[in-house]
Parts: sequence; C-alpha cells; structure tokens
Amino acid sequence: MTSEQDKSGPDAMRSKEGWSIYKRLLTYVMPYWPAFLVSFIGFAIYGAGQALSAKWLEQVVDTVQREDFEQRTWLALAVLGIFLMRGVGTFIGNYSIAYVGRETVHRMRSEVFEHLLFLPSHFYSYHASGELLAKLTYNVEQVTGAVTNAIKIFLRETLTLIGLMAYMFYLNWKLTLIFIAAGPLIGLVVSMASKRMRRLSRRIQQSVGDITESASEAIKGYQVVRVFGGASAERQRFQEASLRNKRQFMKLVVTQSLNTPVIQMLIAVALSTLLYLAMHPDVMGDMTTGGFVAFLTAAGMLTKPVRQLTDISAIIQRGIAAAESLFEVLDEPVEQDRGNQRLEKVGDIEFKQLNFTYPNTTKPVLRDISLRLPQGKSLALVGRSGSGKSTLASLLPRFNDGWDGELLINGVPVESFTLASLRDQISLVNQNVVLFNGTIAENIAYGAMAGATEEQILAAAEAAHVNEFAARLPDGIHTPVGENGVLLSGGQRQRIAIARAILKDAPILILDEATSALDTESERHIQQALEEVMKGRTTLVIAHRLSTIEKADIIAVMDDGKVVEQGSHPELLDQQGAYAKFHILQSDVDMGS
Ligand code: ADP
Repeated sequence: MTSEQDKSGPDAMRSKEGWSIYKRLLTYVMPYWPAFLVSFIGFAIYGAGQALSAKWLEQVVDTVQREDFEQRTWLALAVLGIFLMRGVGTFIGNYSIAYVGRETVHRMRSEVFEHLLFLPSHFYSYHASGELLAKLTYNVEQVTGAVTNAIKIFLRETLTLIGLMAYMFYLNWKLTLIFIAAGPLIGLVVSMASKRMRRLSRRIQQSVGDITESASEAIKGYQVVRVFGGASAERQRFQEASLRNKRQFMKLVVTQSLNTPVIQMLIAVALSTLLYLAMHPDVMGDMTTGGFVAFLTAAGMLTKPVRQLTDISAIIQRGIAAAESLFEVLDEPVEQDRGNQRLEKVGDIEFKQLNFTYPNTTKPVLRDISLRLPQGKSLALVGRSGSGKSTLASLLPRFNDGWDGELLINGVPVESFTLASLRDQISLVNQNVVLFNGTIAENIAYGAMAGATEEQILAAAEAAHVNEFAARLPDGIHTPVGENGVLLSGGQRQRIAIARAILKDAPILILDEATSALDTESERHIQQALEEVMKGRTTLVIAHRLSTIEKADIIAVMDDGKVVEQGSHPELLDQQGAYAKFHILQSDVDMGS
C-alpha cells in the first residue's frame, strides 16, 4: 500500500461509516413520512414563493419601463400574496418537521433507557453514570438536529434552489450553466469542513460526558469532598472538562464560520463572472431589462440556500457523531435470557466445580467452587475482602454470567430458567441499601410489589422493626425518605431494605451484611429483623457478624477465589484451620466494638 492510500483509506471508511450511521438514523424518522410529506408541501409553497418574488421583480421593472401603470393594483396585491405564501409554507413546514423531531427524541431516548434497564452488570462497571446521563440528555438532542433541522433546511433550501434555478433556466439557460460551474468547488470546501466538524463534534460530546460525570460525582460525594479538602481537585477536574468543551466548541465555530464566507466568496466570483459575461450581446440575447434584473436578483438570492445547505453538513456531522455514541449503547448485548423454563418451586442450590472470570479480564475470580445449599438452609460466606464472596453471590440472580462449571437449582442449570422467573424467586438485601425518592412505604412496596395493601406493608414494616422508628416520624411509614434515604440513619435504611425483602416473600434470600458497626440498639433490631427474614428461606449470606456466621447451617471460608473450608460452626472449629483462626480474630473485634 502506498502512503497515499494509507491516508485516504481510513477517511473513505469513515465517510462510508458516517453514511451507514445516517441511514440507520433515518430509520427512526421513516415511520413519520406523512409528516415529512406535509412538511415537503409546506416548503414547496415557500420555495415557489421565493421564485415568484423574482418573477414579480421582473414584472415590476418591465411595467415601469413600459409605463403601464394599469398593472399597479395586481402587482401590489401580488406582494401580499407572495408573503402570505411564504408565511403559510414556513409554518406548515416548520411545524410538521418539529413534530417529527420531538417524536424522534422521545423514541431514541426511551429506546436507550429501555436498553440500559437490561444491560448486564459488567457494562455498568465500565461506564460512568455521568457519561450515560449525557448521552440521554445532550447527545439525543444532537441527533434530532441531524434528522430534523438538517432535513428541514435541506427541503426548504433545495426547493428554493430548484425554484430559483428553474426560473433562471427559463430566463437564460447559458448564463445559468456558467453559474452552476462554481458547484464542484463549493462541494470540495464543504466536504473538507464536514470531516473536521464531525471529529470536533465527537470530542464535544465526550467533554459534555466528562462535565456531567465530574459534576455528579462532586454533588453525590459532597461530604467527602469537603472533609478531605477535595474542593480544589474537583474544581480543577470540572474546569478542565468545561474548558476542553469550550476549546472544541470554538474550533468548531472557527471551521463553521470560515466555511460560510469562503463559500460566499466562491458565489461572488461566480456572480461577477456572470455579470461580466451577461453584458456580452451574444449571451444577453433577447432578455428584457426586467428579465436581466430578475436574473441577477435570482442569482443573488441563491446565496442564502447555498450557504444554508452547506451549514447543514455541520448539523449532520454533529448528529452522526452523537448517533454513533447512542448506537454503541444500543448495540451492547443485553443480558442473555435464553432459558425457557419457569422456575416455580425452589429446592436445593448447588455450585459444581465453578470457575468465573470477569469479562475483559484474565484472572479468574472464582476457582473450582463446589458448594451445596439445601432448601431452607443458610450458607454464610466468610473471608477477607476481595476473596470473591460478592462475585459468588452475584451469580445466583445472574447479575454476572458466563461461568464454567455448573450452578444448579433443583438440579437444573440456572441458565435454563427465564431471568424473570429466576429473579422472582429471589430477595436481596444489599450492604449499600438503595432507596428511591419516595416514602418509606413506597420503598418497601417497591417495583412489582407496588400493589401491596397497607396491611401487608405494615406487617412487613413491623417484622423488620421499621415501625420502631417510623412511628416517631410525622407521617409514619408515609414519611418521605429523601433522595437515596438521606433523611434516615444507616440502620434505619437497612431495616427498610429488610422489610422490602420480607414483603417480597421469595424463597431465596441473598444478604450482603453491612460491615459498618452500628450502635447496639440498631444492631439488636437489625439482628432480629434478619432472623425474621431468614426464617424458612434458603439464604446465601455474605457474613460479617459473628452471630450470623455462628448460626448459619453451612459456613464456607473463601480465600483468593477458592472455598478453603466448609462445614458447620462446631465442625470448623474442630478442624483448627483458617476458620478457627478467623473466629478468634472476629471475636476480638466484636468484643472490642
Ligand atoms: P469480596 O466480596 O469477597 O470482597 P469480590 O467478589 O467483590 O470480593 O471481588 C473479588 C475479586 O473480583 C476482586 O479481586 C475484585 O477486584 C474483582 N472484581 C470485582 N468486581 C469486578 C468487576 N466488575 N470487574 C472486574 N473485576 C472485579
């Protein structure tokens, strides 16, 4: 390959790629073709109005020359008619295209959001929430620019262009051909500018993502930021992102703003050549004065559509760059849900020689795991941080997927069950309790349980010791919790999460015990609430509290992704191994706290 081919290769690929992205984008607006048709009619009326105004000028000049003042009434009325045409045409055209635009924003936004609801958990490990928010807000708007504004300008200006050119051809085709000769030059300038604009647009979108990400982290973590003197670092990070955004924008503005005068200059050259040649008797032919004036006017009026048409390339490039980033999300494979059996009744759970490595990493996080959890029993996972406990627990509801070996429920691989039926049978109490902005009751009866009766919610709240504190709040369980429960203490939030699990009443419970120490009062309430929720359920608990561990039917000690010991509390103590050592350590910690 020569170096020249090297250079043109990626560019050619990019523009081919750009076109295929744009085609895919157009599939979103295709269903709205009737609105497009209406818009087309509107802009056709507008374009005809533009051409008619040149014709009108021709008539005026000729009339004045002929001193035929009888015509003045209809010439005066024609002005009103032409403006009315343009006004009505613009309104119809704008309204219908805006309708298509807003429908497209809504559809794309919903589609991306819908997709986000079903992406596997590892997707979220690699994408910051700020970046995803920027896609849903900023990028989607850019996309619509490309499909609606661009199409609007394209329709309106092309139709105007066609109207004016047709009229010019009718007046004098030779002159018109000379004028058209400037076309390829204009095309070249536009194509050079477009490439640069797409590159810049992509960087701008990235920087908007950086801005939202940096802001959302500083807002969410405001306490840490303040106590640990992070303000200046956060400010710097935000400033850098914002400045990067500004710089890329200014570069875009330079390209865009140079584009217009350069093209206008080209048109001016064409116009002056035209004027020079037009005055030649051979070319002038039998044009009337009015015709001549109107021809020059029409040629002058062409500058606006040509300029606008070259501007749409910026809008389209911005849209293509944005669409690319949205399609990236839409093309991410969603959670695999190939199972076709419904999980109706839960029996024993079994891990068999299971290995697991996170996607895009090489080191196995779980190695040769074999564990049996009989129905209704509890299994406590213990081990130091990073030993793989959370990963192991995440496999059961299939938050992580793609392991080697087997994970069975009732002797059937969990992959054979539909995700919905599998998750229907599982309750979850996280260490980091997730509360939604609503009341305590709404948080307990979350999601599929939203139809629960007041009695059911109260019973769950009672069992989880939520009532102890809720009774003291102004509106009881109907008191709002604030965003992510900021108005509640850690222990209170946990009890709400436990009440949620109790209300769901699923046969399997996954419990990630909080590591943070709570005061003895909270601790006692939570302990009792946990015992309540674990009753009769098959429980997999990531355990930190000695009392939970000791009471578990089976204890599995994990180290570096392996189960190094398993058995009941007395059995493991007898073995005098890792668990016994761990137990002594834990007892010290517990007594100390
Ligand atoms: P534990 O719950 O025992 O603290 P984890 O299951 O959270 O342990 O982590 C086990 C190992 O897996 C750690 O080395 C951690 O760095 C790694 N790990 C956890 N989550 C991910 C992820 N989403 N992608 C890649 N590696 C991960």
